[in-house]
Amino acid sequence: MFEKLGLEERLLKGVKAMGYTEPTPIQEQAIPIALEGKDIVGCAQTGTGKTAAFILPLLQRMSRERGIKALVVTPTRELAGQIVDVARDCTKFTGQKVTAVYGGVGYQPQKETLRRGVDLLVATPGRLLDLQGRGDVDLSKVEVLVLDEADRMLDMGFWPDVKRIINLMPSKRQNLLFSATMSHQVLGVVGSTLNNPVRIDVAPSATPIEAIEQTVYPVGSTQKGDLLVRLLEERDLDRVLVFTRTKHRADRVCRTLSRKGIKGVAIHSNRTQSQRQQALDGFKNGKYRVLVATDIVARGIDVDNISHVINFDLPNKAEDYVHRIGRTARAGNDGYALSFLSSEETSSLREIEGLIGTTLPCEDVDGFDYDYRVVPSPDRLATKPRKKLVYNGGALSGKRKRGRKRPARSMAGAR
Ligand code: AMP
Repeated sequence: MFEKLGLEERLLKGVKAMGYTEPTPIQEQAIPIALEGKDIVGCAQTGTGKTAAFILPLLQRMSRERGIKALVVTPTRELAGQIVDVARDCTKFTGQKVTAVYGGVGYQPQKETLRRGVDLLVATPGRLLDLQGRGDVDLSKVEVLVLDEADRMLDMGFWPDVKRIINLMPSKRQNLLFSATMSHQVLGVVGSTLNNPVRIDVAPSATPIEAIEQTVYPVGSTQKGDLLVRLLEERDLDRVLVFTRTKHRADRVCRTLSRKGIKGVAIHSNRTQSQRQQALDGFKNGKYRVLVATDIVARGIDVDNISHVINFDLPNKAEDYVHRIGRTARAGNDGYALSFLSSEETSSLREIEGLIGTTLPCEDVDGFDYDYRVVPSPDRLATKPRKKLVYNGGALSGKRKRGRKRPARSMAGAR
């Protein structure tokens, strides 16, 4: 019950208008603590409801003074856009002004919005510092700082910028830090900024084991494109997120699809901001059936109703498999994860199976003219789970009805 978390009526009305009925675990835990003014270190990733978990309390706590009282720093433009969307919904009945500033678009409109007055600013580090350097942003009134996806900001080399930003703010302020992973490195660099923080952990991924039907398709590496086309042509795959290992391969997959008249679009860090936004919007509104992505860009993307995740290439890190497939089967929907497996990727498969603690069924696509493929040995059945993954995302989880499960094929030996 959101009513029990200590939120004011005008925010509860916003929550209701957004259609949220029950708080997610991170919201349940973080909101009361943040409302007390305490610092938080939250280990939670996109999909857990973390955005509202930090936006709601900071809206309630910020003073009525003029100027930027709350700042959310986030690594990518897409995330900044998503956060400001949530903030706009939350402020529907409060009258507080929110905006986002990020690179890749013109300065002038952002400058004008800032001049008109902003209470909550969402920003990527580089653009924020540019605007501050030009005298368009004053951070001297900030009362609450949120560092979102801190691990990713670290990975992307933003940390010097983040430190400079921190130095532009009053030292007496509340700090809320969120990160999908909580390494010593993350805690090390921000430790001195935080004031006796409360640590909150939410399990890492959205329902991969229970809700997602996962299948492996052994295929020669040169036939992956053909196999993808075949699946898209033959099966009822509706909104498909395809992962490749590199940007170059993402573009290549898109070209293959377009040659076959399948509407797909790639999203990766070589694309301009407007190209990325158009790709995402086009995928969300159904213009494109397939979104091809690399891990780094995809991590923060929040797209609902993805029916299938296809691992065109298996990820290098087993954890990324869980992040990838967690994009499907959201909010109780069915979800399917299909993984193409070339002979070079068998050790990655073993790692993944070790992590998720289960052996994945392998299948062939009927009638596909395979040149060559290596079907993993049944020995791998002996793989021991490294750790058990349990999603406790509450409101966002949902068990799939198991009725539609297809029988797994036998997969002994090379075919
Ligand atoms: P986030 O982890 O903040 O990116 O949120 C992931 C998705 O969950 C978004 O689409 C939110 O709109 C949705 N969401 C957040 N909180 C709730 C809630 N309490 N009930 C239902 N959906 C939610």
